[in-house]
Amino acid sequence: MRNVLITGASRGIGAAAARLFAQNGDRVFANYNRSEDAALSLCRELNEKGYTALPLKADVSNPDEVRRMFDTIEKEYRGIDVLVNNAGIAQAKLFTDITDDDWNKMLGTNLSGAFYCCRAALPYMIRNHSGRIINISSMWGQTGGSCEVHYSAAKAGIIGLTKALAKEEGLSGITVNCIAPGVIKTDMTSNLTEEDFSALRDETPTGTIGTPDDIARTIFFLAEEASGFITGQVVGVNGGIVI
Ligand code: NAP
Repeated sequence: MRNVLITGASRGIGAAAARLFAQNGDRVFANYNRSEDAALSLCRELNEKGYTALPLKADVSNPDEVRRMFDTIEKEYRGIDVLVNNAGIAQAKLFTDITDDDWNKMLGTNLSGAFYCCRAALPYMIRNHSGRIINISSMWGQTGGSCEVHYSAAKAGIIGLTKALAKEEGLSGITVNCIAPGVIKTDMTSNLTEEDFSALRDETPTGTIGTPDDIARTIFFLAEEASGFITGQVVGVNGGIVI
């Protein structure tokens, strides 16, 4: 049974990934920060069906909380075989309105969070000569998004982290990849109106908006043993809106 840690698993893409891994027999550690009820009820739902899911609270932007989360896991369950750095926040703002606090929160959650979790997960993976790290970037990390400069910078940082770490850990049997989702219907995009979605569909070659399951399936694929020859890649799951 693989140990799979998914950050930001209380809602959206992370929750869909938690369901998919658990349903396939993995032990899922479902990290959350604020949405305790959602995380507990997701894990209860999965455990009642005979799968294994454990909720773990930690703010990924806080290195001490990340360390404590890994200590809890390692005390009873050795370490993490598959790390999914999914926790993220978004904010739409003119560049000139971005405050120091906005910037630090954005980079702290979306980029430093992935750094803290990779740093904590790697010693066990290296000892085990095996591991999968999947980071969730964004199409805005590839192309840049107007009024989302701090978000785009953090997500571009995830791409750099992924490529460099993949080179460093390849001989240790560890792959590091990232996914760059397009527009996915979750709480994060709940500020978009039906008109916005319709305009986005028109711009997208498939004519569709993505679902959390679209991303979860790609995460699961990259985490498979058989995907060991794929590393350092940015996989666009975006209906072709960015090609
Ligand atoms: P979402 O529905 O808003 O969920 C965000 C998740 O991240 C929640 O589970 C939240 O947990 C968690 N989170 C936020 N801050 C955290 C922190 N400091 N520590 C731990 N967990 C934290 O968003 P989503 O759409 O599923 O997004 C998931 C990932 O995909 C993000 O990295 C996002 O940037 C990326 N993405 C999304 C889209 C899209 O269109 N939706 C597109 C491209 C990329 P709590 O509620 O428990 O705090």
